[in-house]
Amino acid sequence: MALAGGRTALVTGGNRGLGLETCRQLAHLGYAVVMTARDADDGAAAARAVGIDFMPLDVADLGSIAALAERLMAAGRPVDVLVNNAAVALDGFDAEVARTTVATNVFGPYHVTEALLPQVPDGGTIVMVSSGVGELSGLSGAVRGMLSDPRLTPQRLLGLMNAFAAAVADGTWAEAGWPNSAYRVSKAGLNALTRLLAAELAPRRIKVNAVCPGWVRTRMGGPSASRGILEGTKSIVWAAILPEDGPTGGFFRDGRRIAW
Ligand code: NAP
Repeated sequence: MALAGGRTALVTGGNRGLGLETCRQLAHLGYAVVMTARDADDGAAAARAVGIDFMPLDVADLGSIAALAERLMAAGRPVDVLVNNAAVALDGFDAEVARTTVATNVFGPYHVTEALLPQVPDGGTIVMVSSGVGELSGLSGAVRGMLSDPRLTPQRLLGLMNAFAAAVADGTWAEAGWPNSAYRVSKAGLNALTRLLAAELAPRRIKVNAVCPGWVRTRMGGPSASRGILEGTKSIVWAAILPEDGPTGGFFRDGRRIAW
């Protein structure tokens, strides 16, 4: 089944879990898929097994992001679909967990998207793989207010994520209204970033949506999760293959809009 018309899709964190299955399904739909992963051996082996291209990318490393962007540009390779899937959900709650989590789950998708934007054609598609745990309703009024402030910009949002990590480091996170989950903060931040980038890229008709795959049996989700990988991946692929005039600036699960 080839629906993609030779279009290229690039997936971050593609070596396992939902990222790997997203690569498989997009390849099956006829996309030229570029799998990326931070472990080059692991990633190259996974890509070989699917029969797709591989390029290394650590989303928390600016040098790695720049190298990928240069490589794609030198090859004249468009990125019609960008799936920002890579993320961490670390055990515990301390300064290092907070710092690494926002660096990977929020700064990562932001820097990857900014670096690859020159390769994304007008009308292209960006998917942020988020989570329902980032919904605003699960946050204090103070944090909800900060993340939905109409004056928010990507730079201010990154500043808020840094402020969260600093508040965890100095023990003031609770009084500032932050929850005791770096993963929750990071996905709420990613959702805010989705809204900001969707507005910023609307003039180029680039769609930017966040999706929640549900609770899925991957290394991150664990064996007790309610969904299998095929079911979880459906939400991601749905947003990746939206038609050119599809929705933008939304948060979706199973192809249906959910609350921010
Ligand atoms: P997973 O099996 O733990 O896979 C996470 C992927 O992210 C791995 O490929 C990992 O690579 C990669 N990654 C982590 N840090 C990276 C970095 N700095 N640079 C590049 N890649 C990095 O988890 P998953 O369940 O498939 O999660 C995929 C996405 O779905 C994530 O955004 C997650 O937050 C979201 N999600 C999952 C669930 C769930 O229940 N599973 C629910 C809601 C949302 P390594 O192999 O090198 O570690």
